[in-house]
Amino acid sequence: MIEHLPDRLDLFATAEAGRILRGRIAVADLQRVLPELLSDTGELLVELDLGKAPDGSRFLSGRIQGEIELKCQRCMEGMKLPLDLAFCLGLVQSQEAANDLPDCYEPLVLTAEPASIADVVSDEVLLALPIVPLHSGSIECQKFVNDYNPPISEQRENPFAVLAELKQKQ
Ligand SMILES: [Zn+2]
Repeated sequence: MIEHLPDRLDLFATAEAGRILRGRIAVADLQRVLPELLSDTGELLVELDLGKAPDGSRFLSGRIQGEIELKCQRCMEGMKLPLDLAFCLGLVQSQEAANDLPDCYEPLVLTAEPASIADVVSDEVLLALPIVPLHSGSIECQKFVNDYNPPISEQRENPFAVLAELKQKQ
């Protein structure tokens, strides 16, 4: 076990040698996930097991644990999402090789080595995000919606109200 996560790693060669790596990655480094997040603070614990299966296929299995903060699309407030993701990727160097992988692997086509660990982790986290983040009926979320009164300016600018006015004038 190597208690360090490099920024970049030659995944295919490391799988050939066989290595287990563990470390923390800052949420702020997950560039592909950041647009989905309300906050970029915190860290995720990442464990990567790279090796070669008896059939010769190289794999990257791993686990990602931690917490991220999304924006609830009902009340627009922060919503913590605990993560505990396990994944198993088959490392291939072409799309044709991906088709030959055993079904237990999701293919990861290596287009450039060394690969960015943050990008690999980002892609797994993106797969785990809800399509529409919503508090799961939490009291906090409902209360916010029930108490919500749009400001006067917003009421005036309601496009449907403007449309209704226009129709009346015609
Ligand atoms: Zn909410």
